[in-house]
Amino acid sequence: MIGSFLNVIIYRLPQISEIQYRLICANYIETFFKHKKIKGSLNQKRKLRKIKTHLGVPYNGDAFSLSTPKSHCPNCLRTLSWTENIPIFSFLILKGRCKTCKNPIGKTYPLVEFISAAGALYISTRLYLPATENLDIHLLMKTASLCTFFWMCIALLIIDIRTQTLPDLLTLSLMWLGIVVSLTSTTGLALESAILGAIFGYSSLWLIYQTYKFFTNKEGMGYGDFKLTAAICTWIGVESLAILLLIASLTGALFGGFLLITGKLKRDDAMPFGPFLILSSFILIHTSPSI
Ligand SMILES: [Zn+2]
Repeated sequence: MIGSFLNVIIYRLPQISEIQYRLICANYIETFFKHKKIKGSLNQKRKLRKIKTHLGVPYNGDAFSLSTPKSHCPNCLRTLSWTENIPIFSFLILKGRCKTCKNPIGKTYPLVEFISAAGALYISTRLYLPATENLDIHLLMKTASLCTFFWMCIALLIIDIRTQTLPDLLTLSLMWLGIVVSLTSTTGLALESAILGAIFGYSSLWLIYQTYKFFTNKEGMGYGDFKLTAAICTWIGVESLAILLLIASLTGALFGGFLLITGKLKRDDAMPFGPFLILSSFILIHTSPSI
């Protein structure tokens, strides 16, 4: 069920951000031209509101949020019944197609649901089962927080691959959550290490970005990557920052090289860095003796 909710976040959050961004631009244009006393430009504002967003949602003033409209087929727009909304099983029963229009359902949906369940099962059996047969509140909290970290990272990973953005709502809340978790010493990471992790996680990538931009006049990363690194470091600690960046850039370079050789990526194409940071953080948390 959490995987199902992650799917909603993965598909809607970037669209919501884009609509909000367009509205800000439209208002800015309106104020700008009002100031310049050019009336015809108000059409410009209407146009900006009407055009389909980059991710395909037409914005016509209707509410669009994580909860509205209800889950529907993106092709025939029919609202789904509860039997079509059961995680993984509905996809298998419907054989991956919409009941009415037979439009194929994206394979990411069942994949995210499966990974969320499998990851949570792995974390809880590894952490909880070997340690105790009785209810251990501390271990339960630790399991729950590591699962939450895992789930939020999966959403960020897929969003970054699909849209090459990392929404603030996810990266920043992951960072605050990491600090709160270390404050209550749930995972065993010291508060000082988490806070320094956020500071140095952000600033180290910012420094690399500025240096790269100064010498090449190109932007090598986005600000979302800085925030994601800060967020991850509140969970793995400042001590693991260097190794996090090392693993992420090595795997990123290897994968990028592979895509270049196979012709799936062109030389000047951008490749998201977030997924490599996330995979690298999974490796570090998995091998960390303190967590
Ligand atoms: Zn349909």
